[in-house]
Amino acid sequence: MDTSILDNTKMYRLPYSKNDNPNAWIEVTTYCNMKCAGCYKGIDRDDNVKNHKALNELKEEIVELKRIRNNAILTISGGEALMHPEIIEIVKFANELGLKSFIHTNGILVKKDIITKLKIAGLCGLIIRIDTNNRNQFEFEDDLNELRQSYAELINSIGGLQLGFTYVVTQSNLEQTSKIVKWFQNNHIYADYLVLILKREFRFNSSEEIDYSQEVTIEQLCKHLKSGFPDMIFSSYLGSQLHNVGFKWVNSAWISYNRKILSYNDAKMIEVFTAYQHLKNGNYSYVAGKGRNYISILQMLGAVFMLKSMRKVMRRYIIQIIKLPRLITKLPNSQVINIVNPPSSSSVSFDYCDSCPDAVLYNGELTPSCTLESIKKSSQNG
Ligand code: SF4
Repeated sequence: MDTSILDNTKMYRLPYSKNDNPNAWIEVTTYCNMKCAGCYKGIDRDDNVKNHKALNELKEEIVELKRIRNNAILTISGGEALMHPEIIEIVKFANELGLKSFIHTNGILVKKDIITKLKIAGLCGLIIRIDTNNRNQFEFEDDLNELRQSYAELINSIGGLQLGFTYVVTQSNLEQTSKIVKWFQNNHIYADYLVLILKREFRFNSSEEIDYSQEVTIEQLCKHLKSGFPDMIFSSYLGSQLHNVGFKWVNSAWISYNRKILSYNDAKMIEVFTAYQHLKNGNYSYVAGKGRNYISILQMLGAVFMLKSMRKVMRRYIIQIIKLPRLITKLPNSQVINIVNPPSSSSVSFDYCDSCPDAVLYNGELTPSCTLESIKKSSQNG
């Protein structure tokens, strides 16, 4: 493996485990208002059975997951989660348990009135999938920036919500990815997360012919990002369950201010933040509180003594204030790219992420959400 781009000895291995994990994942419906080709849930397939999970069942699942996971974050996924008729009650229940809930959506049903109601119910944020794979009437990824911008402005107008975008990386759009990262960086006042999911094909039937030619490796994507952003640091990772050294999640985080990057966070900074969060709150949540991920001056000052990288942030922040004193009322905020490298059915066995943060409860057992449907359908279809 080429260690010039990804070197586990220089990265922080996220300390998540089965029983101490930032996230719990629920899937509330198999209804969807899109049919994305290659959906890992098989929702684009004719044999998809549509149903909404009952509220009581979901409540029990959320309570049980919290007991198992010690999670602070609850990811609400589907299908299209916003199609669940009791989505507000689900968010409200999670909020009553002190969980920060995020809804994964394709964006079609994202409208001011429903999102405002969800925010009042305690929603922490939205992760909206937008790319040319699920909007194939668009030819180029940056043709979709106008749409990303409209969601960003809508969510910002409601206020107090976090916002992320998901983008599935294929061989066809790999080279366009840095343009979307640039858009994301320029829009740090609106957006917090960019989840780059490497395209994977799942087999739903043992006799199915699968075309794996669009699958991208994590090394290919990281190399592409490094060529567009030479200062970018891949600072933390989740390893692989199959290989001695493997990169299943790779994160890059930075602190932005006035459309400039004050500094990419190095491995030490992530380690200190993660350990501090666990010491203070007893969990590994990567979301500090409700609302956007702003960094206060006190937090910066506190870290300056310990972290060289924070000294750089502080220096650049002060330079910005001296140049433009009216900025003093604004705070820097952090942005994160989360690269997810799911297993592929092209291998002999599935290479799951260490302590999979996106596992669902299936028959009472934690099961990675990415392959659950293909395993279920393959056993039904033979
Ligand atoms: S669901 Fe699959 S891709 Fe997602 S974290 Fe778990 S193993 Fe990794």
